[in-house]
Amino acid sequence: MDDGGMGARVLVVEDDPTLGGGLVATLAASSYEVRWARDCAQARALMTSGPADLVLLDLGLPDGDGVELCRQIRALDNQVVVVVVTARTDEADAVLALDAGADDYVAKPFRTVELLARLRAHLRRRDALGQPDLRVGRTRLDLRARRAWVGEAELPLRPKEFELLVALASTAGTAVRREQLMDDVWDEHWEGSTKTLDVHVANLRRKLADAGERWDRIATLRGFGYRFELD
Ligand code: CA
Repeated sequence: MDDGGMGARVLVVEDDPTLGGGLVATLAASSYEVRWARDCAQARALMTSGPADLVLLDLGLPDGDGVELCRQIRALDNQVVVVVVTARTDEADAVLALDAGADDYVAKPFRTVELLARLRAHLRRRDALGQPDLRVGRTRLDLRARRAWVGEAELPLRPKEFELLVALASTAGTAVRREQLMDDVWDEHWEGSTKTLDVHVANLRRKLADAGERWDRIATLRGFGYRFELD
């Protein structure tokens, strides 16, 4: 199953050697396939020489306007995820970049874990859009129609239950942290009780069981999170 980005091709566009080097090392250590462009010209050359799944784009580049580069990248590839990295003082540019086709932006300084979580979420979403069906064992999801079945029985899921099932089923066989699920299913800045997650998991288990699925298809990992079990 897709795991939200492992092996995805990331193009880092960053002229700052320390920041760029750090990003490249971190992404490579997280199993991404990374290429690094230090200016607009290199970025264009790398984009044309081979596709990327995600571009991490610094707006302040030595040889041109990052917003314009964003527009050019989008023109070359309308599937690639573009995440803009910007200094706090340049938030107006970040807004321009969103208008120019960027999917998201992060302000410097950022926490690496947060950036990685955001990249994973974007890549998962992108993969989900290109993939009408997700199947794990007898569980099947139609991501466009937002419907789910166990065998022939359709699950009567509420919106958040559906998203939780997507998050769990798309990482089937892998342990997923509670925080990750909260980020994926609820707002990333959501600070409510994590009891909400447990309640939704309990509802999901009950609905899966009603449709003939094993009660323990979603395993609880104490002190960690959950795992959607493969057969
Ligand atoms: Ca820069």
